[in-house]
Amino acid sequence: MPRLAQQSILYQRGKLLPRVPRFEEPFGLESPCGGPVASEPDIAYARAQSLRITANVVCEESSRPMELCYDFVSPPRIVFGWGRRREVGGLARSLGQRAFIVHGSRTLERAGHLAELSDQLRQAGVEPIELTRISREPLVEDVDRAAQHLRVGLRAETDLIVAIGGGAAIDLGKALAAMATNTEGDSVRDYLEGVGRGLALTARPLPVLAMPTTAGTGSEATKNAVISNHEPAFKKSLRSLQMVPRIALVDPELGVTAPPEVTAASGMDTVTQLIESYLSRKAQPIPQALCVQGLRLAFPAVREAVHDGTSRSAREAMSHAALLSGLALANSGLGMAHGVAAALGVHCNIPHGLACAVMLPVTLQTNRAPCSAEMADLARLCGIEAATTDAAIEDFIMQIRDINAEIGIPARLSELGVRRDQVSAIVAGSRGNSMSGNPVDVSDEQLSSILEGML
Ligand SMILES: [Zn+2]
Repeated sequence: MPRLAQQSILYQRGKLLPRVPRFEEPFGLESPCGGPVASEPDIAYARAQSLRITANVVCEESSRPMELCYDFVSPPRIVFGWGRRREVGGLARSLGQRAFIVHGSRTLERAGHLAELSDQLRQAGVEPIELTRISREPLVEDVDRAAQHLRVGLRAETDLIVAIGGGAAIDLGKALAAMATNTEGDSVRDYLEGVGRGLALTARPLPVLAMPTTAGTGSEATKNAVISNHEPAFKKSLRSLQMVPRIALVDPELGVTAPPEVTAASGMDTVTQLIESYLSRKAQPIPQALCVQGLRLAFPAVREAVHDGTSRSAREAMSHAALLSGLALANSGLGMAHGVAAALGVHCNIPHGLACAVMLPVTLQTNRAPCSAEMADLARLCGIEAATTDAAIEDFIMQIRDINAEIGIPARLSELGVRRDQVSAIVAGSRGNSMSGNPVDVSDEQLSSILEGML
């Protein structure tokens, strides 16, 4: 009897197609939608041949197996455009009367954006209250401390959160919106995935209006907030459909003051998110369509945004691509680069975007075999012309390495201070939600040798 994982059957418009399986584990004989995936004679035939039946449908345009059965989650309102931050007052007023402001670095303050934000809110009849500032990725203690303040005198019916800054500030704002109204746990830790008490968010969070100032994480469009801790060391998500911001207000002009190294790391985070979502084993049709447009824009724009921070076209392209990447990852998941990046953040204090950028080329190499058709598609839409699929992929990975080098992102983990004695902890810390989307299963031994090869 052949090993079952060696062969599978895809059911396409009434025909059984023997194919190299994309998934090692079967979905069973029922699709995730609950319906049968193959007719009885087909199932009998497959059983007789000891073949597996997967629940995939092959799209006509692509060789990629695509499950046409999905949910799609996004903010109810997305407001995008150069200078449109000035509309914040009216938008906030549609959500409440008192806005707690969670914001990022001092650059925002220096550029006058915070004063402008408060003025806009006041003019629209919304009382602004500065709640907290964050200049690094949020810790459990940051959430707990600010949540305590927030809960005192809370008016849950009319209060809202305005989160303005990079992914850290928006994640913190989303977590605080949830912790303001969910008071069963003593700490946000009680609600995080995989640690604490596993409590669910039962009360509706405060509405969040998210204003990203870096084109990176796409947190303005996602349903989770990433929260870290030192003792014990972890980086986990607070996740709920209710945490999707009610309004994503994306003004690419806010990115003009971001320094080149922040633009570089956050820009490559966007590129990584678009590629990993597209290739994810949880890939979905709408996110894939978004990834195509996002990558086509971001691939040429990321260099320009770093070299000329005032370029309106580059900032617009990157902000839009970042938003699309958030929509994509919130619905499709990610992969190995993001799995490892979480551990690099926890154990080596490497910022998220930088860690993703460093891990992207090796992640593509690792996933190359089962995803060659998809990777070649991505290469072509980034303008790469090559005679063969293999050559297109090779060139694609090489161009990503070139972009990284040009915008100051190192190729080796040792350049970021990662040591050999940290590898086992990084491997153990990489097994989060992101890794579960990676197209191939990577064993601990494989991951160790990949990481050691990057020292
Ligand atoms: Zn990311």
